[in-house]
Amino acid sequence: MGKKQFKTESKRVLDLMINSIYTHKEIFLREIISNASDAIDKLTYKALSAGEALDRSTLQITLIPDEEGGTLTVIDNGVGMTREELESNLGTIARSGSLQFKQDMAAAGAVPESGTDIIGQFGVGFYSAFMVADQVTVCSKAYGSDEGWQWQSSGADGYTLEPCAMEETGTKIVMKLKPDTEDEDYHQYLHTHTLSRLVKKYSDYIHYPIRMEMEHTRAKEKPAGAAEDAPPEYETVKEWETLNSMVPLWQRPKSEVKEDEYNDFYKEKYGDWEDPLSVIHVSAEGAVEYKAMLYLPAKAPYDFHSREYQKGLQLYSSGVLIMDKCADLLPEHFRFVKGVVDSQDFSLNISRELLQHTRQLKVIASNLEKKIKGELLRLQKDDREKYERFWTAFGLQLKVGVVADFGQHKDLLKDLLLFWSSHGGKRTTLKEYAERMPADQPYAYYACGEDVAQLEKLPQAERIRDKGYEILYLTDEPDQFVIEALAEAAQGKPFKSVDDPEALPESEEEKAASEKKAQDNQDVLDFVQEALGDKVHAVRVSKVLKSGAVCMTAEGPITLEMEKYFQRVDPEQAKGMKAQRVLELNPDAGAFAALRAALDSDREKAGRYAQLLYSQALLIAGLPLEDPVGYTELVCALMQ
Ligand code: ADP
Ligand code: MG
Repeated sequence: MGKKQFKTESKRVLDLMINSIYTHKEIFLREIISNASDAIDKLTYKALSAGEALDRSTLQITLIPDEEGGTLTVIDNGVGMTREELESNLGTIARSGSLQFKQDMAAAGAVPESGTDIIGQFGVGFYSAFMVADQVTVCSKAYGSDEGWQWQSSGADGYTLEPCAMEETGTKIVMKLKPDTEDEDYHQYLHTHTLSRLVKKYSDYIHYPIRMEMEHTRAKEKPAGAAEDAPPEYETVKEWETLNSMVPLWQRPKSEVKEDEYNDFYKEKYGDWEDPLSVIHVSAEGAVEYKAMLYLPAKAPYDFHSREYQKGLQLYSSGVLIMDKCADLLPEHFRFVKGVVDSQDFSLNISRELLQHTRQLKVIASNLEKKIKGELLRLQKDDREKYERFWTAFGLQLKVGVVADFGQHKDLLKDLLLFWSSHGGKRTTLKEYAERMPADQPYAYYACGEDVAQLEKLPQAERIRDKGYEILYLTDEPDQFVIEALAEAAQGKPFKSVDDPEALPESEEEKAASEKKAQDNQDVLDFVQEALGDKVHAVRVSKVLKSGAVCMTAEGPITLEMEKYFQRVDPEQAKGMKAQRVLELNPDAGAFAALRAALDSDREKAGRYAQLLYSQALLIAGLPLEDPVGYTELVCALMQ
């Protein structure tokens, strides 16, 4: 059978791997053992789903060092791999994450800094075997199959696949260790004490026994009748021993788990190479007893926004995996959380359908939701920099959560939200905003747009800013809907758009003055309305402008931001979802005076001015010009 070639990208990764991108070669053992453990997890899981009895006491991982042959063998009686799986799992590195991996490698200048643990990332774990071995042979028999297959490779030059005899389901990996060099002692991986040390160091929590035959020297029993003072004779015996304590991390008391252990577990298990932002370790007693270990990732995984991403936590019952991604344990708004839940209150044989309806699951889910919120609030208060990082990665998810399900989670999520604001160029919580409000401030103000720098200059915000009132800048897509759902920033302080003519309450005199202003200029307004036709719903003397000449606001239920949003999401549907545009003019501005003068002398020119003002209002509002060429011609005509 001819040699098959690795996919090109696999080859590159392999080269990097072999050329030691990672300085601690010893972690290959952790990777191989963790795959073995995953494989046994999968087997128990499959057997469970198939309703098949499984003798759990036989499940184990075996290490066999062979000094003479120079090989280290790792055997598991897990789920095994079919021929196709051998080929796709081991013939292609970093299947789904390959692209991202390459990009990150490129960004890091091809070779990451030494010590960066990128092994284990995007499923390159298995290949770490090539850091210590110059030939790797994998024999496997898949669960439910009756034929074994052997995959063999000596590194980047490709691999072979052929049938092999395997009695039991599972996988056997034989690593032929490289010859020792001056710098590197590969031979040590054949010594039982090294192996047992490495298992303790990296794989202690693996919840299946990792077994190895160890040699012990012990005093022989004295034969009957031997003299009391005869020197003891020694013998060497071989005994199978379990090397790991098998206590999963989450079962250990919080005080005894080191930060590194939490972080390593996370990176290994979820294929991230960055430490998580935070760990929540819960040990709950009472009506429902469970242990949980939850992580807040520092970054959204590359597939987070795709359909492929599945939320959920791993569910164990007394250390046995019963569900890999239990979606019901996590609300949609916290779907970025990773982790495990272990509770002996679930029976091992529970079906997935039944599981969803158990009271325990609901109790745990609701407790965890509170814990997650609590941890986020703690970060927000004690470690704002971290919280901002969290927010950059997952903030939108929380905002979407406020609006989702008819707003039923809004009270839970409100305190977690951040918005940009006119206060010091930073993001703020609504609580902080409310605390800063002067006593006389009637409303919590907001302005909508795409860009904070633009919003700082928004003409209709001027009068609010000049009063010394802070303005929230709504730049995130769901913001407008969030504000609508929340209705008020704090007790008794409803939200108000800076576009709202009633945003600043008027005194009686002010009211009379603005009414008079409107009457005095009615002729100009009528002219502009006629010139623009049904492009605008109304033209009015603005109460929202201070020094600016013109702006666009909207009347009715659909705001300009919503219109833009609909347009982005579904342009076809958006045709019927237009805001009713109101062109706001400022009679005190020079442009208005020019318009009035033109109206008296040159109505055609006045008409052009009206079109110009309308176009400018569109631009300020971030709306597209309906006729950019026409607009340019207009400006040029006016320049002549
Ligand atoms: P990851 O473990 O992150 O998926 P690896 O490179 O470590 O990536 O392993 C690649 C894949 O090979 C695994 O996802 C698994 O499907 C398969 N695999 C590796 N080792 C074993 C094993 N001992 N038994 C069964 N399948 C295995
Ligand atoms: Mg792995």
